[in-house]
Order: sequence, then structure tokens, then C-alpha cells
Amino acid sequence: MCYAIPGRIKAITGKIAFVDYFGEERKALNEMEELRKGDFVYAQGGYIIERIPLAEAEEILSVWKETFFELQEADLRLSRLDLEKAGIDRKLGFILDGTIAGRPLSETHAVYLLGRTDPRELDLIFKSANFLRQKHLKNACCVHGILEISNACSQPCLYCGISTHHRTLKRYRMTPDEIVENACLAVARHGFKALVLQSGEDAGYSIGELASVVRRIKAKTPALIFISFGEIGFHGLEQLYEAGARGLLMRFETSNPALYSNLHPGSDLETRLSHLREAYKLGYLLITGGLVGVPGQTREDLVRDLFLAKELHAEMMSFGPFLPHPNTPLKDSGVPEENDILKVLAVTRLLEPTEARILITTAFETLSENARRKGLLAGANSVMLNVTPAQYRRQYEIYPNRAYGDDGIEKQIEDVVNLLASLGRAPTDLGISRAQGRQPRGFALGTPELTG
Ligand code: SF4
Repeated sequence: MCYAIPGRIKAITGKIAFVDYFGEERKALNEMEELRKGDFVYAQGGYIIERIPLAEAEEILSVWKETFFELQEADLRLSRLDLEKAGIDRKLGFILDGTIAGRPLSETHAVYLLGRTDPRELDLIFKSANFLRQKHLKNACCVHGILEISNACSQPCLYCGISTHHRTLKRYRMTPDEIVENACLAVARHGFKALVLQSGEDAGYSIGELASVVRRIKAKTPALIFISFGEIGFHGLEQLYEAGARGLLMRFETSNPALYSNLHPGSDLETRLSHLREAYKLGYLLITGGLVGVPGQTREDLVRDLFLAKELHAEMMSFGPFLPHPNTPLKDSGVPEENDILKVLAVTRLLEPTEARILITTAFETLSENARRKGLLAGANSVMLNVTPAQYRRQYEIYPNRAYGDDGIEKQIEDVVNLLASLGRAPTDLGISRAQGRQPRGFALGTPELTG
């Protein structure tokens, strides 16, 4: 199983490769000196990950070709707007018309959109977002894997089920060998091209150990490795980048400093943001975003969250519901409704119509039945599958009853591939990266290192 369609290099200008996918051209950052025009490659996140042999590429493409165009047709049908039939108020029509015509969404208009509750209006907002996603990014959908390597965390965040508040939780910490083995399995057996390694803020691993794990994975696979170990300091970020990590998953949770401090005693928003800014400077691709439904959060706060993710150069935006764990101090806080999340996904797409990868979080999938399908039809275009070994998965209990907690990886893949096919989406990554203009620093020459 593989999650990217091979593309053919049409041209290379400096670090930018122009890749052809059945007649559609996409740009991707290339760090492989040996790459030539005519080569076939896999690209993920706007990066060239690896060159693949001609015979292998041709075999995969022969299977994909017909399907690709069929899917695109179905996707186009599902994203078409029928504005005339909608009979919607003029202000909403004006805002949506504007975004479709390419006018940037203002903060005031974003707040207005988040305040809509009429089902017909919501339907139109979601369809507009889906239309823009289709128009600019076609039917590509990123499918990344996430490996939760430890559920230990030294932080007392007031809502999180792996925080120090959850005293009865059985903790686990995978050994370096287990991490490398499971990461390589996810790539080699299941075909993932991008993997997130995640843990709480776990002092049980030194940065040197984590760097060694990343280095070992990178020596064996060309996968794009994202790290998500919390606030590991600038030096930690630098060491892991040198080891081969090229992505950072770190949400800022809320752009409101007071709300942030309320949720995370002893921590402050500025430190978190400084990590994200430093990581971007180092060359990391960022997955970031926030929580929807934090106690005390206003619509204005939420809109500032969306604009902050954009300002931080998020490669992928991740906004999910606030789901406090019952063993934490905020256990009695309410949780948001499905439409609150769908509105945020849709407004994110209206704000970032041309480039953003927008993730459907597992928390949303836990909150809402058919969340993936609904999210994909409201502007989202990314999902993550959990590749954590079954014996640990339930213990990564940031909130209870996580969606797909018991599903094996084969079942998750089958479900997502079927869902994407039913929506006319291809589990591939053809988007143009906003990182394409940046030059990552310090990649190791002469290894099968990534590049993507
Ligand atoms: S939110 Fe992150 S830092 Fe806070 S307790 Fe949970 S895993 Fe730890």
C-alpha cells in the first residue's frame, strides 16, 4: 500500500523540482543532487522524498491512471456550489463570493462566519470551503502516520489525560529499538511516506537518544519524520533537525496568553511560540493549531488562532475540539459541538484557500460520528492514522475513548482508502508547499536522506 502517486520530474530549477502528475504540475523542494529530468519520485508535504525506479513507477501509474481521473470527476461533483438555489443572506453571500473570487478573508468576516448557526448557511460555508479546496488543491489528501512512543509527561496541563493529574494511568515508554522497528514497519509494510513520532514531555528520553532514534530511522527509510515531544528547547530542535527530522508537530492550543496560562500552569504562550518560530527558522515544516472550545474562549480568540497559525507558516493546520479528560481538574468543562469544529475547518480553508493542508484530528473523530467524511467535505484534506502498537495505544489517553483506539493499522488503512475513494479523493500529496521557497539547512549528503 502506498500513499503517494509517483510523479515525473519535468524540470529542476535550483532546489525546486517541477513534478508532473497526469498532466498537473506541482512544485516540490528537492535536496537530492542526483535527481534528473525524467526521473520518477514520491513527494510528500511539497518535498521530494525519494526517487523510484522506472519499472516500479510505471506499474503503479498504470493502476492509478484511470482511477485518478475517475476520482477527480467525483470530487469535482461533490464540491460544486449551487449558490443560486441557496437563497442566503447578502452579507454571507458577499463574504463567500469574495473568498471564491480570491479576496483575502478579514478577521471581522471570519468572526461573522463562525457565528452562523442556520443549517442552510452552514451548508453553504462548508460547500464554499470544499469548493476552494477542490479548485486549488484538487483531490489530494495527505495520509500521515503517528507513532506514540511514550505517554509519560512531566506537565500538569489541566485538561490532558496524560498530564501529571492522571495518577492512575499506566505509563509506558517504548525502547529505542521498539520505536525504530515500528517506524520502519509503518514505512516498509504499510507504505507511509510521513510519520509523526509523539510523546508527552518525557524526560525519560535524552535528546541524544531521540536524535539517535531519528538517525536510525532515517538510515533505513526515506520517510519524512515529524517530531512531537513538546518544548525540547532550541538546542534540542537543532539536534533533531541535524539527525534528520524535518517536521515539528506542536500546537499552540490558544493564541490568548491568559487562556494559555490557565490551561498550562507554569508555562507561557510566548515560550511555546518561540519554539515554533525557531523551528521554522531551522527549516522544519510545521503542523500547528489550537483547541476549539477552551473554557472562556471567544469567537474572536478562535479567529486570532487561525490567523496565528497562518502567521507561523503552518504547513498543516490542526484544530480540534477541547476534550478534557475526566481525571483532570477541567473534567466538568463542556465540549464543543460538531458544527463548531466544522466551522473552524471551513473558515481555515477560506482563510488559506490555496495551500493549506488542514487536518481532521482524532479528537474530532472521537467527538463526532463520520467526522472524517464531514471534515473532508468542509475544506479539510489531511488525516493521520495511528501506527502505535496495540498494547500501548489505549494508554495514550489524552482524552477517553479515542476514535480507532482498537483498530489495527490494516483496518484503519482500509477504512480511510474506502472513504477517500467514495469522496473522489486520492490518498496522495500533490499540494504545493509553502515551504518550497525555503532552503532547509544541514541535510546529510550521501545518505538516503530525505528530502521530503
Ligand atoms: S498537553 Fe502536552 S505537555 Fe500538557 S500534559 Fe498533555 S502531553 Fe503533556
